[in-house]
Order: sequence, then C-alpha cells, then structure tokens
Amino acid sequence: MGISKVIQVQSIVTETTSQFMMLGVSHSGSVHGYNTNGLLQAKAGNLLIDCGYTIKAALHSQQLSFDDISAVFITHVHGDHVFGLERLAFESRFLLNKRISLYLEPKLYRELWDQTLRGSLGIVNGEPQSLEDFFDVILIEDNAFEFGGHQINTVEVDHARGKPAYGCVIDNYLFYSGDTRPIPHILENLEFEVGFHDATIIESSPVHANTHTLINSYSPELCKKLYLMSYEDEVEDRAFAYSESFKGLAKVGERFELTALVTP
Ligand SMILES: [Zn+2]
Repeated sequence: MGISKVIQVQSIVTETTSQFMMLGVSHSGSVHGYNTNGLLQAKAGNLLIDCGYTIKAALHSQQLSFDDISAVFITHVHGDHVFGLERLAFESRFLLNKRISLYLEPKLYRELWDQTLRGSLGIVNGEPQSLEDFFDVILIEDNAFEFGGHQINTVEVDHARGKPAYGCVIDNYLFYSGDTRPIPHILENLEFEVGFHDATIIESSPVHANTHTLINSYSPELCKKLYLMSYEDEVEDRAFAYSESFKGLAKVGERFELTALVTP
C-alpha cells in the first residue's frame, strides 16, 4: 500500500509525483533475494540508492534496466551496495553511451575508487582511467543534494567500525538507513514519517541492527515508523515475532508516493 505526502514550499510552483521503491531487501548472504538497494523514480530520472551485485537482476524484475538509470547515490563501500557499479560503468559508457551521475560523500571516494573499483576499471585499452571517466562524480557538500525536485539529506550512520557509512532522508519524509547499528542519538531527533531500517535476525551482529537492539534502542513510536530491511532469507519462512513492534517488513517492489516540487 502506497503512502503519499505533499510537501508545501511556497516558492515552487509545479508538482509532479515520484515514487520510492525497494529493488531488494535482503541480507548480503541471501541466496533468494536481491541486495538491499532502493530506487527513487522521479519525472526527471531514476536515482539508484546503492548498486549491489544483484542490481541487473533486481532492475529486470521490475521491468527496468541500466538504460533507465540516470544517477546513483552510494551509502557505503560493501559489495552488496557497490559491486554493481562495475557493470553499470562499463555498460553506460560503452554500450549505452550515457553519463550517469554518481552522488558520493567525499569520505567514500578513496574506498570506492582506489580500494575497490580501480582494480577492475582502472585500465581501458592500455590507458589509465579515473572514476570520472565513467561517471559524472558529484561530491556531496554539507550532507545534502537535490535530485528531481527532491531534497536529499545524508546522515552518517554507525555500521562497520572505521568505515564511513551513510543513510539519507528524502524531503524530510522518507528515511533510508543503509547498513547501520541503532543510531538513537540521530533518529530520535530526525524529521521523517516513514523509514527503512537495517535489521538482521542475528542476535549479535557487530555491524548491523537487529530487532532486539532496535526495540531496546528506539522508542515504540519510532519503531512503528520503520520498515525492516536487509533481513535474512529465513525471516520469510518463520513467524516474525517482532513485526508488531514495527511498521512491517520492507517488500521488493512496494512503492511509496512522493510529491516532487520543481521549478518550471
Ligand atoms: Zn554494509
């Protein structure tokens, strides 16, 4: 079931409807599901939120392809969030002849290029390549950027020790955590109406939230705003004892309406 909201900003005159959809909701170890990646579908284009190794199949399952993607925002540098960038880089440059915008928090740049993609993309026809040879790299300033009439604010979260990781809020309405442990000091003060939050069912994950730690860390009111994502395959097969504490489990392909306000 979709949810809609109209953001009222006086100086902007044209409204268009956009949609947010989860392309995948599964844990990185899943054998059945797609990586936890999202998609903002605006009139101006489609923004991928993360681009994991299952991205081509995930897009195909929604009758979409790389040709439908105009931009990517990366939350952090783990394979289920960035390994699809290699294919996207090659196909957008050499098959589709298009430039895709890559929105990147500056702290992620070295990890993404020097330590991850460069080994594969760094040489083409004997010539050294840069990340900018494949993408229009836009380094995010002041934790905010605009896409398709939407205001997107990034939020530094608490994932793997020593690795930068971010979530984001779209239009102060929809929160997307990326991978993170509970972040009550941030979420209890963040303005949003509906959220998607990392939640494994493993009891002692050092890098992910799980249902117990969420319930113990967040207020009941906050938990009730959250759909859980990044869950293991087993969640679908067993009674989910904590579902009543949250808004529900995020589902692949479920769409949420957003209203974009754009200047003509
Ligand atoms: Zn991760």
